[in-house]
Amino acid sequence: MKRRPFIAGNWKMHKAPAEADALAEQLKRALADVTAVDIAVAPTFLSLPAVIARLRHSNIGVASQNVAVEAQGAFTGEVSAEMIKVAGAQYAIVGHSERRQVFGETDAVVARKVQACFRAGLAPILCVGETLPEREAGQEEAVVGRQLDVALAGLSADQVGALTIAYEPVWAIGTGKVASPAQANDVHAFIRGWLGRYPAFVARNVRIQYGGSVKGSNAAGLLAQPEIDGALVGGAALTVDEFVAIVQAAG
Ligand code: PEP
Repeated sequence: MKRRPFIAGNWKMHKAPAEADALAEQLKRALADVTAVDIAVAPTFLSLPAVIARLRHSNIGVASQNVAVEAQGAFTGEVSAEMIKVAGAQYAIVGHSERRQVFGETDAVVARKVQACFRAGLAPILCVGETLPEREAGQEEAVVGRQLDVALAGLSADQVGALTIAYEPVWAIGTGKVASPAQANDVHAFIRGWLGRYPAFVARNVRIQYGGSVKGSNAAGLLAQPEIDGALVGGAALTVDEFVAIVQAAG
């Protein structure tokens, strides 16, 4: 049985509140008729309130790009999952490769952030993926398996079953180098197999998005793969026509 596709746009550090509001409004109009695809966008923390307000009565959900480990306290510069939930977001991206590589987030920190999402009632989109040297050494499954082992340790089957996992090979993010549909599907199938350690509903329910230079022109080929349930989109999510084309390729 095919899972309901899920397309999410990661706006990264782009779009101050007025611009984010305008992009959200354009997407809301352009995607209003889509019923067969779950859609979300992830603005910066600063733009979250404007985008949440703009998309409140729409078919587009809102995600944060990160969460703090702790719920509150003396953690300068952090925003907690609880605050994001109260602001009205539904999802949070956790463990994005830019968080791991640029900000030094370890697998253990990512695990605590996944737990913070569940504590607060946010649905995590957990990012995993190998670097280019790891891919060249044939270690992609070992790396993704380790990231999953640590990030999901201690979660209940129900929690794991509620996750979205984004497979994002680091060498394909923002580089224009997209994994071939077969390369992506192979790792998705590995992740699906990894989920087989839980009761059967988990592997059946978890949506695995592909991320890494997805565009309107390559989305259909990727989304046609049996194990690819959607996409996490960076650069192309900032252009209305591109993002709409990706959503349409999923529907
Ligand atoms: C991302 O940031 O998650 C991403 C996949 O970026 P891009 O689509 O630009 O490669």
